[in-house]
Parts: sequence; C-alpha cells; structure tokens
Amino acid sequence: MVDTATIPRDPVYDDKSIRKVLEMVKDPEIPVLTIEDMGIVRNIEFEKESVQISIMPTYSGCPAMDVIAEDVKSMLVLHGYKNIEVKTVLSPAWSSDFISENGRKCLEEYGIAPPVSAGSKAAMIGIDAVACPQCKSIKTKVVSEFGSTACKALYKCEDCLEPFDYFKCV
Ligand SMILES: [Zn+2]
Repeated sequence: MVDTATIPRDPVYDDKSIRKVLEMVKDPEIPVLTIEDMGIVRNIEFEKESVQISIMPTYSGCPAMDVIAEDVKSMLVLHGYKNIEVKTVLSPAWSSDFISENGRKCLEEYGIAPPVSAGSKAAMIGIDAVACPQCKSIKTKVVSEFGSTACKALYKCEDCLEPFDYFKCV
C-alpha cells in the first residue's frame, strides 16, 4: 500500500517536472532502461491540474505497452498529479533509432546487444552484423529469431561462445 501522506499535494505542472517523474518509469522488459531512454515518450501536454502523455508503441504486439501506460499513470499519481491521460500514438512509428545514447550503453552493459543503427560502424561498411556485448566480436550468428521476449532475438558469439539477446531493429 502507498502511504498517501507522502504524496505531494502541489506538484508542478511543467514540462521539466513531469519529465523528471517519467524518467523514473522503467521499461518492463528491460528494467535497466527508462521509458525516456527508450524514446517512447512522444509528447507531454499539461494544463492547470491535468496531464496528457503520449507514448509510442515499440514493437507491435508488445504486451509491455499496457504495462507502461499503467506505470506512467501510477508514477504520476504517486507524485501528486491529477487528471492523467495516457494516449498511445501510432504515427510516427517508433524505431529503434529513438533509443538514446545512454540507453544503448545501458543495454550493452546489461548484456543485450543494442540495435544496429543507421550510423553504426557495421551499418556503414554494409554488414548487418550484431556485435557480441561481451567481447565485441562481430562473428555472431542468430540462434533463434525469438529470444526471451518477442522483441529480442537470441544470438551466439562464435568467438567467446556466449549466447546473448539482441534487441531487434525495427
Ligand atoms: Zn563474444
């Protein structure tokens, strides 16, 4: 149970304060990433005592979206915000390029290979290689298109022989 006495009575309805609260919401599938790192938050609107948050679904059919919407709502409630609406916007579509630099770093530290982005070294030399998060080797191969969740593929490194999850590009 939440101790209602600790809920602030006068939250500030401005972009900075609301964003700060959103930064505390983690991605339910990848708990090292916040939804800000994932680039899911599309828009923040607010008036006197009301907040509307627009979020982008990541992978279609990802059951995590409902969880994220609920988490956003309850985190704002916990900080005293009222009249919260969380909308899902489908356009423009989310792409793995929205993941922030910090987010990519966290993914790698967590042992998940971040999506190969358009600007990455591998993409520039024209290979669709996924680097091993352990030893950085690009001698990797896909074991299964579906890893621990539908958003990830299971890979294996042929140098250090470690299996790892690859966060699929969309
Ligand atoms: Zn390796």
